[in-house]
Amino acid sequence: MKRVSLIPRESIPVASATSPSSITIEGIAASAGIVVGPALVIGNPNASYVRRAVSDARVDDEYQRFEEAVSRSKEVLIELSERAAGTDSREHGAILEAYVVMCGDPMLAKKVAFYIRKELRCAEWAVASAGEEIANLFGPAGSVDEYIAERRHDITFVCDRILRELMGEPATLVQNLQRKTVVVAHDLSPADTASMAREPVVAIVTEVGSRTSHTAIMARALAVPAVLGASHVLHTVKNGDLVIVDGLRGVVVVNPTAIEIEDAEDRARRHDIHEKRLNARRDEPCRSKCGTASVVLRANLELPSEAIIAKERGALGVGLYRTEFLFVDRVVPPSEDEQFETFKSVIATLAPHPITLRIFDLGGDKFVSCFPVPPEMNPALGLRAVRLALTRPDILLTQLRAMVRASAFGPIRIMVPMVTTVQELRDVKALLDKAIVDIRARGIPCADVIPLGMMIEVPAAAMLADIFAREAAFFSVGTNDLVQYTLAIDRTNETLAAQATPFHPAILRMIRMVQAAADGRGIPVSLCGAMASDPMAALLLVGLGLRELSMESTSIGDIKETLGRFDLATMERIAQAALHCESAEAVEALLARTYATELFDILAGEAVDLDGLFDAE
Ligand code: PEP
Ligand code: MG
Repeated sequence: MKRVSLIPRESIPVASATSPSSITIEGIAASAGIVVGPALVIGNPNASYVRRAVSDARVDDEYQRFEEAVSRSKEVLIELSERAAGTDSREHGAILEAYVVMCGDPMLAKKVAFYIRKELRCAEWAVASAGEEIANLFGPAGSVDEYIAERRHDITFVCDRILRELMGEPATLVQNLQRKTVVVAHDLSPADTASMAREPVVAIVTEVGSRTSHTAIMARALAVPAVLGASHVLHTVKNGDLVIVDGLRGVVVVNPTAIEIEDAEDRARRHDIHEKRLNARRDEPCRSKCGTASVVLRANLELPSEAIIAKERGALGVGLYRTEFLFVDRVVPPSEDEQFETFKSVIATLAPHPITLRIFDLGGDKFVSCFPVPPEMNPALGLRAVRLALTRPDILLTQLRAMVRASAFGPIRIMVPMVTTVQELRDVKALLDKAIVDIRARGIPCADVIPLGMMIEVPAAAMLADIFAREAAFFSVGTNDLVQYTLAIDRTNETLAAQATPFHPAILRMIRMVQAAADGRGIPVSLCGAMASDPMAALLLVGLGLRELSMESTSIGDIKETLGRFDLATMERIAQAALHCESAEAVEALLARTYATELFDILAGEAVDLDGLFDAE
């Protein structure tokens, strides 16, 4: 998630001398760390096959080449998926299995047969043409609809795999590397990323992708710095070129100067020291400097494999498990058993800490996958989250039963997204009660009490927090949506991104109001929006009274360190002053004046050698 940073990039020290030969490309900072290394450019097979015509007499042979390439592709994918099973790459294993099935898709075979037999194209050309035709059936290239983009990506990947076999290329292009290498590609397949675990890959750069794409998730799991979305990087980087990959700032420097290399190596060293210092304290509690405020830091999860990272980073459980990710990439919703096994594995990893399972939050800007939502003028204001879930009580009940079964294995809490009316909460409660009755009737054990709480991410819920507090077991403030709905700024709108800030005093007042309502009823409040992982925002939140924050696990160390540097009295004083500021800019200026100097290293992601102690470490 995008960090709200109050330090302008220009104020972070960088090398001043740049040579005309170095080229800087900006992308998305997908996995932290800084690396300098030689590039291995993975080309796009689609761009390099020869378009041959075949004679009538050769069409059977050509079609047989295609069939052989399909069976070799399947073998390779099965082998990779077996290797991925039982490791952190379980999701990749599942994706690879789906690709095995797609390789044998009759529609693909039929279209390839048409191009070979009727159009007399060679097998490579036929596969590329068929792949493009099928991808276009899902939707146009460049579509911003995640579902369409993912489906197009799947079919392109499968056809690339078959093309590679036809062209005699190795199963994965990232193999048998002799030295530390930066992999540069348009996109990486799950097969490539899975094979990287065994290779000396020190960084990843791709032209496409986002922080939630499988490449980003894998890069973070492997702790490999990554910059994704680096447009046209393949036009700029050649095999063997030296590159700097700065996964902290989302920047790639091609053919850097000696000064740029020195600066990058220095920053890499400082980043490592910073990470080591933070990680050394992962088992320490999170407390204010004065020791009076203890804050529980939990992790946000999208995938079950992230539970291991959460544990390594010292998360005290999960404050938000976005279960909608279980519904992505599939035609039918996940079964009760599958969901149960997933929840159980997360519970097992993080026990005895609680796991907060949010019921699937689909619709709006989130992939439609197996829920065909009718097109809407304003999807964010339409049938999404709990509203959508309640239109399919069968699917919701299946998920709730899986959660109820998982409750026998450790403490869970269930959370409802985007609640606007008390009735919505009651409707989910009725279904949860039914799920409990069903599970008990089957003779399956479950917890005696399963707390049902709600997200506060709609202004209506914040304003009625005192009423909701009578029925909800806990609150969790979702600032990503609360900002969207309160400031009337679409959270996907890039142009207005800077104005969509949680530092707006209206947001701060709502958070204060929610905390007060919860205190009145003695129910816990957490905050799980991206605001929680911003160091200065965290100081503000603790000053406003919050004692539970949930964030990406990689931010836990930073936030623990930040909160430990200030007294509660300072945080409360600044928070009170912020509530009376007239604008977000005024709040940001107040926070920067008060805290920035002491947080310089944390905001830059690097240790600062104020005492000349680095050499001693
Ligand atoms: C939020 O809205 O702040 C939140 C945590 O939920 P999501 O980002 O999944 O909508
Ligand atoms: Mg939300």
